[in-house]
Amino acid sequence: MGFKSFKLDPRVEKGLQAAGYEKATPIQAAAIPVALEGHDLIGTAQTGTGKTAAFVLPILHNLLAKSQANPGKTRVLIVTPTRELAEQIHEVIAKLGRFTPLRSATVYGGVGMIPQERALRKGTEIIVACPGRLLDHIKRGNAKLDHVEVLILDEADRMLDMGFLPSIQQIIQHVPAKRQTMLFSATFEPALEQLIHKSMRTPKKISMGIEAPAATVAHALYPVNQHLKTNLLVKLLKEMTVKSVLIFSRTKHRADRVVEKLEKAGYATAGLHANKSQSQRKHALDQFRSGKLQILVATDIAARGLDIASISHVINFDIPDSATTYIHRIGRTGRAAKTGDALTLVTPEDRAIVRDIEKILGKPIEKRTVEGFDYHEKAAPSEHTHAAHPRSEGFHGRNNAFGGAAAGRSNPYNYGGAPNRGGAPSRSGAPNRGGAPSRSGAPSRSGAPSRSGAYSRSSAAGKGQGYSNSRSRY
Ligand code: AMP
Repeated sequence: MGFKSFKLDPRVEKGLQAAGYEKATPIQAAAIPVALEGHDLIGTAQTGTGKTAAFVLPILHNLLAKSQANPGKTRVLIVTPTRELAEQIHEVIAKLGRFTPLRSATVYGGVGMIPQERALRKGTEIIVACPGRLLDHIKRGNAKLDHVEVLILDEADRMLDMGFLPSIQQIIQHVPAKRQTMLFSATFEPALEQLIHKSMRTPKKISMGIEAPAATVAHALYPVNQHLKTNLLVKLLKEMTVKSVLIFSRTKHRADRVVEKLEKAGYATAGLHANKSQSQRKHALDQFRSGKLQILVATDIAARGLDIASISHVINFDIPDSATTYIHRIGRTGRAAKTGDALTLVTPEDRAIVRDIEKILGKPIEKRTVEGFDYHEKAAPSEHTHAAHPRSEGFHGRNNAFGGAAAGRSNPYNYGGAPNRGGAPSRSGAPNRGGAPSRSGAPSRSGAPSRSGAYSRSSAAGKGQGYSNSRSRY
């Protein structure tokens, strides 16, 4: 469906054309008319589906339609969990709104207050903010929200996981009760339902089947003992053309170790996690986007929403805590209908999560082994700490990640399910592209948003900790 039928302001239409958007994506087709009418809205949509424009376009149109109202005042507040997401949303506003006089300012921690204060005091129609820093600006009188007409809560479940619920509740106190609220979330746990109940008025629900991963991504599992993961990773990378590879590790310390190892192996690599300063994070992302960095090793801070155009491979060095997070991680590749590969190194501890992921995909994920790799190599003494289970760094387990009697004697072919009796590792098989995910296709406007109850993340995933908190694992 084209954008014409929405009858958007000609200046916004022009922005769309300049951005090269011709057809509305399914979330846009479903959400834009609802948002244009001023309804409250709850949206579940996969990352990479055009969710940002789905709320930015109606915001721009509606602001222009009432442009005489409250000139120079902040009329839209967008709250999002991470600085990178804030910048990304800001860029989409700048891109689609470039032929409009509307301004947007970003507000997040890790950088100086003063430039943000100046931008806010100068007047901006739209604020894109992370919760903590926004509250600082509210307290200092820099951000005035009493003319806000539209509140967007983006990646709401992520914000709750990061412990932002009290901040969000406080922020809502500063926003007029009479407003339009749009909330986007992947899952709907009870705390979020409460927030919805308190902050929204009979919202329309749009579900785009969040459980379904992009059909353009091929999935593969690489069973391996924990202590051999880094060696296997290097071997895997050697066998592929490494242009733009995003690797996820469970903790920032493990991310740093992987970076070190890959740099030694000759790859231009950087880490992206909460212990990095904002300028380091921005630099790493810019370098990665421009192709100067081949590999970015990130914790889940980077799992949501980051729009990096052409990631060829996502490698889960550590499997995520939940199937939902898996979907978000692999949402970094295969974006905008490009193909991509999602490779996951797995140990037997990961079986339950693998089963959850396979449920979402609707079929088993192909297991592969790497020819010529020594799966039976024993852990070197110095590797013991590294071999510890990532869920509990520093824990010296039995070190037989496959649960066998002796470390290193296990057969990776036997990981969960039928052994690969053919002998030859199943490297050649056609990738599991598409995965026949159970996409709902048509938006279910009236039904409850697609809950991913069974797949919801484990509570160990940093609940209650801000990701920008240097004490967090991320
Ligand atoms: P998002 O899910 O908002 O992060 O968007 C993912 C990517 O799709 C971004 O690079 C957008 O610029 C792009 N995109 C969004 N909507 C459209 C559209 N209607 N046509 C083409 N590309 C789009």
